[in-house]
Amino acid sequence: MNYDRILIRYGEISTKGRNRNKFVEKLKRSIQRAIVDYPNAKVQGKRERMHIVLNGDNGDEIIQRIKGIFGISSLSPAVKTSNEIEEMKEAALKLFQRVYTEGSTFKISARRADKTYFLDTNELNQTFGAHLLKNIPGLKVDVKKPDINLQIEVREEGTYLSCENIPGAGGLPIGSSGKAMLMLSGGIDSPVSGFLSMKRGLELEAVHFFSPPFTSERSKQKVIELAEKLSYANGGYFTLHIVPFTAIQQLIQKQVPENYTMTTTRRLMLRITDALREKFGGLAIVTGESLGQVASQTIESMYAINDVTNTPILRPLITMDKTDIIKIAQDIDTHDISIQPYEDCCTVFVPSSPKTKPKKEKVQYYESFVDFEPLIMEAVEGTETIQISPKKEQEADSLDELF
Ligand code: ATP
Ligand code: MG
Repeated sequence: MNYDRILIRYGEISTKGRNRNKFVEKLKRSIQRAIVDYPNAKVQGKRERMHIVLNGDNGDEIIQRIKGIFGISSLSPAVKTSNEIEEMKEAALKLFQRVYTEGSTFKISARRADKTYFLDTNELNQTFGAHLLKNIPGLKVDVKKPDINLQIEVREEGTYLSCENIPGAGGLPIGSSGKAMLMLSGGIDSPVSGFLSMKRGLELEAVHFFSPPFTSERSKQKVIELAEKLSYANGGYFTLHIVPFTAIQQLIQKQVPENYTMTTTRRLMLRITDALREKFGGLAIVTGESLGQVASQTIESMYAINDVTNTPILRPLITMDKTDIIKIAQDIDTHDISIQPYEDCCTVFVPSSPKTKPKKEKVQYYESFVDFEPLIMEAVEGTETIQISPKKEQEADSLDELF
């Protein structure tokens, strides 16, 4: 290999003023976790950018591993040399040959951060341009739209060279926006919603409502598979809370008029999720709702359901069309799991004609005949918590397609 480090640019982090150190620290930790099995590579986080010094580890593999990590705007294979001109020229040529294909045009972008260096920017550009032209027959310069831009930065401690710019996943490092609970069903929408909120730096824990024997082990397995897919984006781990929901759903069927059962079900799911949020930490709840998609997602339904909590409910998909949501689900590889035909607790108990415009006062009135609180506490107590991590092969290759 002809590079000894990977240079990582932050993008949006660099605009975050005083929080920057925290952002850099979170990103550094995500990267360290992703490459933990590369024992020699060392991550050096600086305010402006980050370097992974390879110390002999495989840089191409490491780039595949990390390019899906949120908070990286772009990355470049790079090499550090001394400021001795012959060494710099040799390294530049080697690095360039890594990406050069016949007919490619190029330019040199030199920067002299060390103002005492004996060549100025123009002289650096000319020296390296001439060196490449002499060694690669047929090579052409194009200063406006080059295929390859060889960047050379001369600093006091040494010179950094790079000529590839690989796009990163963008977004903010996981955890830098705090923590929230994701209501994860087995459907198409909520995994996409989770992914998008992780991209903005939210670390998530998932909550899934499960109603055996009306919903099968297989439907639970499906949610576990979705969580596995999402765990990479969450920083390499994901906590999934599985809430036993059968007793509550049966009581709702008994107590609440049929056309209001859906509204009450959603209200109780939200109360339980909120209790779990309180127990495990977190400041928001994320759902996969999209305005007008189904009866529970009309604005009137949201008003009646949201009534049970003041916790911020984040709905990243609220304005999105189903076709656009499906496209993202395919990109992040959750779509094919989501469309497996296993029942969800909400579809099993779905009333024939749920209210599309429920009244808050009415639903409060129907619920006032039952004390749901002990049942909510029981559900929280009975919740099974599973720690999920990415499948090995997923870490290695599917993220190639993902980002
Ligand atoms: P999805 O595709 O995410 O299932 P959907 O379009 O099928 O969404 P609903 O079934 O009405 O819509 O669910 C709306 C939201 O409520 C979901 O996106 C999810 O956040 C939450 N939700 C629904 N069912 C469950 C469940 N069994 N466990 C946890 N959350 C759920
Ligand atoms: Mg659903």
